[in-house]
Amino acid sequence: MRVIVDAEKCIGSGNCVLACREIFAQREDNGLIHVLHTQPSLTLLPHIKQAVQDCPALVFSLEDEQDTSSLTIVELPAVSPA
Ligand code: SF4
Repeated sequence: MRVIVDAEKCIGSGNCVLACREIFAQREDNGLIHVLHTQPSLTLLPHIKQAVQDCPALVFSLEDEQDTSSLTIVELPAVSPA
């Protein structure tokens, strides 16, 4: 399974951090999501799924959800204002 994190959509609510602080954090400068580990333990999957469910801004999307033999998190960074 791959979890795609589109940080550009993040509004900094912090719900994902509450659901899984082992993997998700908020940047100190702008409060947007930051992925701490891109290859998390599968034992964290329930918490990661909770984060996906709790995000009000639909930042997360799942690929190959049926394949739970591996777990990768891909962070698409927010584009900085020019
Ligand atoms: S729950 Fe969603 S909107 Fe809130 S900080 Fe996490 S990624 Fe951003």
